[in-house]
Amino acid sequence: MEIKQNDTLVQNIPQRISRLKELAYNYWWTWHRPARELFKRLDHTAWITTRHNALRILQEVSPEYLAKMAKDPSFLRLYDSVMLELDHDLENGHLWYPHTHPDMMQHPIAYFSAEFGIHTSLPIYSGGLGVLAGDHTKEASDLGLPFTGVGFLYEQGYFHQKMDHNGWQEASYPFLEADKVATRPARCPEGVHCQITVPVGEREIHLRVWEVLVGRVSLYLMDANLEENAPWDRELTARLYGGNREMRIQQEILLGIGGVHIIRILDLAPQVWHLNEGHSAFMVLERLREYVSEGCTFAAAQERVRASTIFTTHTPVPAGQDTFSFHLMEKYFHNLWGQLKISHDEFMALGSHNGAFNMTALALRLAGQVNGVSELHGEVSRQMWSNLWPEKKVEETPIGHVTNGVHLSSWVGAAVNQVYRKYISPKWVERQSEARLWSRIEEVPDRELWEVHTHLKQKLLNTMRERARDARISNTSTPDYLLASGIFLNPDALVIGFARRFATYKRSSLLFRDIERLKKLIHHRYRPVQFIFAGKAHPADEPGKRLLQEIYNWARNPEMGGRIAFVEDYDMHIARYLVQGVDVWLNTPRKPMEASGTSGMKAALNGVLNLSVEDGWWAEAYNGRNGWSLDSDEHFSEEWQQDETDAGTLYRVLEEEVIPLYYQQDRDGVPRNWVRMMKESISTVVPMFSTRRMVQEYTEKYYLPAIQKSLASGK
Ligand SMILES: *Cc1c(COP(=O)(O)O)cnc(C)c1O
Repeated sequence: MEIKQNDTLVQNIPQRISRLKELAYNYWWTWHRPARELFKRLDHTAWITTRHNALRILQEVSPEYLAKMAKDPSFLRLYDSVMLELDHDLENGHLWYPHTHPDMMQHPIAYFSAEFGIHTSLPIYSGGLGVLAGDHTKEASDLGLPFTGVGFLYEQGYFHQKMDHNGWQEASYPFLEADKVATRPARCPEGVHCQITVPVGEREIHLRVWEVLVGRVSLYLMDANLEENAPWDRELTARLYGGNREMRIQQEILLGIGGVHIIRILDLAPQVWHLNEGHSAFMVLERLREYVSEGCTFAAAQERVRASTIFTTHTPVPAGQDTFSFHLMEKYFHNLWGQLKISHDEFMALGSHNGAFNMTALALRLAGQVNGVSELHGEVSRQMWSNLWPEKKVEETPIGHVTNGVHLSSWVGAAVNQVYRKYISPKWVERQSEARLWSRIEEVPDRELWEVHTHLKQKLLNTMRERARDARISNTSTPDYLLASGIFLNPDALVIGFARRFATYKRSSLLFRDIERLKKLIHHRYRPVQFIFAGKAHPADEPGKRLLQEIYNWARNPEMGGRIAFVEDYDMHIARYLVQGVDVWLNTPRKPMEASGTSGMKAALNGVLNLSVEDGWWAEAYNGRNGWSLDSDEHFSEEWQQDETDAGTLYRVLEEEVIPLYYQQDRDGVPRNWVRMMKESISTVVPMFSTRRMVQEYTEKYYLPAIQKSLASGK
């Protein structure tokens, strides 16, 4: 088979700076500021137009300019220091895990996820689950864990969103141009481009494997778009969560079972297998099959799989579960129960739950260690799944929790980073978990912190304006489109951000329950409030799309005077601007449906205050002084009652607390008490809600014990 050498598509680079190519092919550059700076200096225009895509900058910069930079002393100084840091980071001796657990380095961890949010230029994520997997991967690299990711290289990624003149979401799926993403053919030990074949029902699907470097970690991504496959099979890895149940089961067979094949063909020998959500749970079936074919009894195979498997569940609602009918399972797995030496009924019992084959139930039964993603979500999961352990009390259901976190160096704004370097520690990223260190935030002059914040706010509003200008130039905009785009937002007035998937439980329209009361707030003469919304609805989620339409129609309604804006095409790129640039981050899920949430942590990292229902991570973080909680301890029999009460609380907190605090400014324009709250939020949230804390917790609570158990079960 022909091997397509993506990396030869970059032009010749002068010898002196030739390692730029190596840098562009390792997503390490995305979270190291000097490395980002290097690409930005090569072509500042392309940096903006390619939305920070290092590889495309290398492809687009003129050879003359490259030659000039290869002789520019200041560029070379930066280049040399970046390369030094890269080499230092890729060696592992000084990192946490190799240092604390040198004997564990030969026991790798394999991490399976249907999506990975590494960078906007690699569109293989749709939302929080993917961004979490990406942040987990980056942190595993920073900590030096022997860690490998397995997923898909979706050729059409997740869709791009554009709002039409009815306020209806239009989805488009541009093809990923293989030479514009930093992937390489994965090499088998024999040196050829790695390819696997996975039986799916009566067919055989061929998959090519790509490697993406994320610092010291490799991600192996499957792609079915090969000539050897039938046209319909070539589409199996085209889109995230596309198609019907039949397509989904095939996709999940590729992920779970194909993923194990990749591990084997690459000879990776993991001791720990981590399932990020149930999509990849068929992995346990393939590993059972392997053990039984090696001569284990089914019971012994089950023991060994359980010892080495970790399952992280993310879904607190039964409707969100991934399930397949038994009929569909029979169609695709009728060969398997014989090979496992169990009966049809015993096989179905592995995933059986409420009349269907449930991927979460399968993972719960076959993973020896299970966790939810916040304390509250752990509790909700124990209640939800206690019936799988009928002999245990609800609180003894073996589901723990590791609260999610965010990768700090990926999400911190440049200006905030400067403040932290100056006042917290020049090595604040390395020392981020030292809670006491963060009390130094008190030393930042109020005025300085406020100026940094207003600078980031300006950057967000400028970015929105430039987007609106581009739309106007390309003649795709109407006056009400411009009104909704945020061009009228006033940088001196309070800005509240709300950006997330448009799923109905997130209740993005809560704010609009009492329009007259809302109008009073936004049109106040001296103390106006403004809102920025962003987010996509799943293309098959009609209620979600209607919700989005409702918000969008308010945004472009002249009565709102341009004080409510909607930013199209929410992704990691625009998310960075939003979580850094608004004053308040609003979150109104219907409790307890938000398993964790992570965008509020990104906001807090940048000095943005959270105003949130006390659900998910916020139930742990909120201390009465570091933001606002929208909590009610009442229990409601009807959803509309809960919504009515929560909306009332939201208006009241805005009117009585948030707005007065923001506008209570000194003569020099600094809102002292607001800044005090920013400092309280930074010092309490940042050290706790990071992937540093999270991955260390996974390691100590789950990875290390699983390695021990797994070694013992193999004896
Ligand atoms: C962080 C992030 C999310 C997750 O945010 P939630 O708080 O879970 O809603 C989703 N999408 C993008 C693009 C993100 O950056």
